[in-house]
Amino acid sequence: MTLSRRTMIGSTAALTASTLLTQAKTHAADEKTTVNFALVGLGSLSTNQIAPALQKTKHAKLAGIVTGTPEKEKIWADKYSIKSENIYNYENFDKIAANKDIDVVYIVLPNGMHKEFTVRGANAGKHVLCEKPMANSSEDCRAMIEACKKNDRKLAVGYRCQFEPHHLYCRDTVQSGKYGPLHAIEAGFGFKIGDPNQWRLKADLAGGGALMDVGIYALQACRFLTGEEPVAVTAQETKMDPKKFAEVDETITWTMTMPSGVNCYCSTSYAFNGINRFNAYGESGWLGLDPAYSYKGIKGQSKDGPIQFDQIDQFAAEMDAFAQCILEDRQSKVPGEEGLRDLLAIEAIYASIKTGQRTKVQEA
Ligand code: NAD
Repeated sequence: MTLSRRTMIGSTAALTASTLLTQAKTHAADEKTTVNFALVGLGSLSTNQIAPALQKTKHAKLAGIVTGTPEKEKIWADKYSIKSENIYNYENFDKIAANKDIDVVYIVLPNGMHKEFTVRGANAGKHVLCEKPMANSSEDCRAMIEACKKNDRKLAVGYRCQFEPHHLYCRDTVQSGKYGPLHAIEAGFGFKIGDPNQWRLKADLAGGGALMDVGIYALQACRFLTGEEPVAVTAQETKMDPKKFAEVDETITWTMTMPSGVNCYCSTSYAFNGINRFNAYGESGWLGLDPAYSYKGIKGQSKDGPIQFDQIDQFAAEMDAFAQCILEDRQSKVPGEEGLRDLLAIEAIYASIKTGQRTKVQEA
């Protein structure tokens, strides 16, 4: 066979094109599309919500565990095919620094342990997703933000409602001005707490009571709906069972003023079930969710009828969003600063209860 110059050029071009295509395919295959998570603390939330959610995520994968209970190691390893080299306890946790297979540590421990494990995780070179409330104090939140910044790691707080379609619709509708200027929000979340010996009733592990645990959802809703930061708060606490609630708050009601003049009327309790809602009232209309903060079954109503969207797995959405931030090198929409702002408002609420005075919220 004789090859003309034309066929030579043609075949060279075809060869080059096919080489480029192969290279592009290899590159695409190499490109990271999944972020590996290690769960730190395997209690109720990790077991019943987060690990199952990680079976549905597109970009986040359950690859490691950190537990203080040796019996859980085999159970979790078997159930979720976790490699033995990706299993840590609270003492050897820092060795995770050498483990290239783990990208994110998700802190699902009692609140009082969030700071320590976030700082240790960041110092080990891992991105951190931390459950709410971010920490026991604004000072701890600042230390966590600083540690992640210093190590060039991303930090996000587990504010799942910010990924939920009913919440997003309410925020967008309020901020669009559809119902005119907003006048007031009422928001509350509470439940009757059981076991009197659990960590949620101990000041050092919980940082506070109902307000820190669930009142924070009502606070978040007010901040999320308005996009504003509270200027000042006035708060009162009621304690019906001083023995059970010796260390933490039982029932709190508070009001917050936003810079635009919107008044927020909020409540939280560990004494009874049923409050799980918000309503926002504008000049020409209103909307609200009840239940608002549950894992599923969110229901909405408005002046114009029901608010209906598909129910989603909020944890899966939150983790996929954080994974995408890491893959695309973007900041989370629920960064550490978001957790800090909640803690600053919470501290003002506690200060107001103590002094009986209207209390300014410190700036972040
Ligand atoms: P949990 O009590 O069920 O689990 C806590 C885990 O921490 C357990 O595995 C326990 O063994 C471990 N732990 C380590 N040291 C401990 C200590 N000194 N005392 C007690 N436990 C210790 O709690 P949870 O309900 O899984 O809550 C964990 C975190 O998740 C909390 O910060 C909580 O606020 C948050 N949370 C968030 C949501 C949400 O909807 N985002 C829901 C529930 C809990």
